[in-house]
Amino acid sequence: LMRLYGPLTSLSNVHVDVMTALVSFDRVFEILDLKPMVAERPGAVPAPGGPVTIEFDDVHFRYPAAEDVSLASLESVAGQDTGPSHPVLKGVSFTAEPGRLIALVGPSGAGKTTITSLVSRLYDVDEGAVRVNGLDVRDATLASLRDTVGVVMQDPHLFHDTIEANLRYAKPDASEAEMWEALRAAQIADLVAGLPDGLGTVVGDRGYRLSGGEKQRLALARLLLKAPRVVVLDEATAHLDSESEAAVQVALKTALEGRTSLVIAHRLSTIREADEILVVQDGRIAERGRHEALLARGGLYAELYRTQFSSSDGNPAA
Ligand code: ATP
Repeated sequence: LMRLYGPLTSLSNVHVDVMTALVSFDRVFEILDLKPMVAERPGAVPAPGGPVTIEFDDVHFRYPAAEDVSLASLESVAGQDTGPSHPVLKGVSFTAEPGRLIALVGPSGAGKTTITSLVSRLYDVDEGAVRVNGLDVRDATLASLRDTVGVVMQDPHLFHDTIEANLRYAKPDASEAEMWEALRAAQIADLVAGLPDGLGTVVGDRGYRLSGGEKQRLALARLLLKAPRVVVLDEATAHLDSESEAAVQVALKTALEGRTSLVIAHRLSTIREADEILVVQDGRIAERGRHEALLARGGLYAELYRTQFSSSDGNPAA
């Protein structure tokens, strides 16, 4: 959450209750009403339609310096580096082709989240380019980028409102049948149907408390209603019970199917299915390829696999 508040500073009047502001902005990001730190260029055009290819072309990026950020004092609260900003991405190139799943893995702080945030242009690159179907995202309208890219982060925050209202943020005119279809595909319809108020149940901290896995499935239902052509996802690492874990896995598979997907992957099942795994280390792509090939290479991926993934869903090693 804290890492994402840089873009908040483009909004005014967030001084009253900072924590409330942070929570609501997190929600705003979650719903994809992204508030980038960037402005739309005059003459911007909609991102091209059809199946999406995303291209990172030698992307270099550093976060705007802390002194440019009016909420910078919070960075120390968040344990962020408040000194001069350091290069975070140092020449990242890859192509995510239509309908393909790219998994990002790598040590903490390597730059995975940063890469995903550049897809929806929360920030502008310093050098190189991010392109959607050949169009530099800096030349695309922000609304069209929001429509194209759906994001589900690790710990989705829900509005303190009804389940129906939470779903309608993704698609205001959704019919009840569409909502149930999305809930079913996200493996959470039975739970909602079993609640006394069904779709009218108020969720959130002061309402019905959903577990981590349930929240993520509701966020996935929201994503399915929105039906974006690109999905950016940070898989939950939260400890889920095995039943919920299996349900999340099915929901994830449905959400990613047929979409160009960029997933910060923590589950071995996702990593094995990825068309390409990008191993991010210190702002660069250190290794790339499919699971078996990377494992055979005996490098950083093999090391990550041994320490993180091999026990992530109980599957035996390749
Ligand atoms: P993790 O697996 O822990 O989520 P990550 O690979 O996603 O890590 P990033 O979150 O992209 O890594 O962070 C890369 C670097 O950028 C880190 O040094 C981090 O401190 C820095 N960073 C991330 N977000 C911001 C921000 N909003 N402002 C300044 N620096 C940031």
